[in-house]
Amino acid sequence: MYDVLIIGAGPGGIFSAYQLTKRRPDLKIGVIEAGHTLEKRRCPIDGKNIKTCIGCPSCSIMNGFGGAGAFSDGKYNITNDFGGTLYEYIGREKALELMYYVDEINVSHGGEGTQMYSTAGTALKKKCMVNGLQLLEASVRHLGTDINYVVLQNLYAELKDRAEFHFDTRVTDLVRTEAGYEAHALSGGEKMVFEAEQCIVSAGRSGSKWLEKVCRDLNLKTLSNRVDIGVRVELPAVIFSEITDELYEGKIVYKTKKFEDRVRTFCMNPRGIVVNENTGGIITVNGHSFEDESRKTDNTNFALLVSKHFSEPFKDSNGYGESIARLSNMLGGGVIVQRFGDLERGRRSTEARIRESMVQPTLKATPGDLSLVLPKRILDGIIEMIYALDKIAPGTAGGDTLLYGVEVKFYNMEVELDENLETAHKGLYMIGDGSGVTHSLSHASASGVYVADRIAETYKI
Ligand SMILES: Cc1cc2nc3c(=O)[nH]c(=O)nc-3n(C[C@H](O)[C@H](O)[C@H](O)COP(=O)(O)OP(=O)(O)OC[C@H]3O[C@@H](n4cnc5c(N)ncnc54)[C@H](O)[C@@H]3O)c2cc1C
Repeated sequence: MYDVLIIGAGPGGIFSAYQLTKRRPDLKIGVIEAGHTLEKRRCPIDGKNIKTCIGCPSCSIMNGFGGAGAFSDGKYNITNDFGGTLYEYIGREKALELMYYVDEINVSHGGEGTQMYSTAGTALKKKCMVNGLQLLEASVRHLGTDINYVVLQNLYAELKDRAEFHFDTRVTDLVRTEAGYEAHALSGGEKMVFEAEQCIVSAGRSGSKWLEKVCRDLNLKTLSNRVDIGVRVELPAVIFSEITDELYEGKIVYKTKKFEDRVRTFCMNPRGIVVNENTGGIITVNGHSFEDESRKTDNTNFALLVSKHFSEPFKDSNGYGESIARLSNMLGGGVIVQRFGDLERGRRSTEARIRESMVQPTLKATPGDLSLVLPKRILDGIIEMIYALDKIAPGTAGGDTLLYGVEVKFYNMEVELDENLETAHKGLYMIGDGSGVTHSLSHASASGVYVADRIAETYKI
């Protein structure tokens, strides 16, 4: 029996636990996590013996202490312009205050010495504007995959004696009881039941299917109508260096002339690598980069995503994204890579064309034809944006620029929550990416601190 049970040990869950145990050491806190401890998290893909995803029962990239962000590039974007809509619940000022607070904690737990970038008042902003592009404003703390890991190690070292962690334990059902909540879970085939008066659910994107079930079981209202679909672009780092040297990551938005769709850059990795991502068995693409000079490459990668908002009667926006990703998996056995020049000429890329290309891929993907996978409207938007980016970073639209597909950004359904991020059931909070409120490390972490503060202030002494 716990006072507060936290489901999920991603950034949302970790920062809830951090803040709650700091402010209320008198409370008994339990954290249940479907994945492994940080040090046991290891994706078996080694590029030699195991080249593609083998579908582990718990995906080490997405699950375990640190959540989906554990091996991420650790870019903490401090802004209300993107990364979630936390400000709609708690106000812009409070949201920013909490994101800076999270930054302080990261810095004091191993992130000292890392750089903070800012887009405000830069020359690039004007250059984007005159070329029909919008540079979004943010302060960005770039921890890098390596330092992000160190911060997580330090946070766990501090938390493990203040809260009880249950790893490799997946909650299957969440039940409302008279005393609060019961989490029914499976750990190594063994059934377990955890009880708590209050419960914070921070199950992230990988927990989205399970969360849909929880919402159905508990009669919680939800909404789901958005998915972002696109490609990951990889090009010589020097082409984007003006942007990445100044900002590390430029979040740039473009409105297409043809369909007036919004296309945006996402997750920029200067001198990084392109990686596979497994979402429920579907292989999509993502990117990493490192602070460590020896691990840097000659390429920069970033995603170009087109936002699709659906209206009634269609309700399964994620299903739509999944179908497109499945199509690329069907054709390429995983991720497909194509030279921009080949795409423009309407021909597939081949091993030979990629080999002779100026840009050498950092991910082993199948050369193919993305126009057979992506809907015309989405592909047209991506091509338009590549030409728009070419004006601020000449060379982007070069024939050897590589496009990997597909990259899909699934959005969790939005759960109906009040200004405390509390559901219609008293004492049941939903935070982080799983709630649909956040889509980033900063916002997810800040939502954790916020709910912990609410509970710390109101929980009986
Ligand atoms: C490769 C990659 C790179 C990224 N890079 C960045 C970046 O640079 N900057 C940025 O802002 N964002 C980035 N993101 C997104 C960021 O990681 C997420 O926004 C963030 O992790 C969300 O935190 P969360 O706590 O809400 O969810 P998660 O981090 O997804 O954590 C949820 C946890 O809940 C657990 N869980 C789920 N269901 C259950 C269950 N039923 N029982 C028990 N446990 C369960 C999962 O195992 C998981 O560990 C990246 C994501 C990926 C995958």
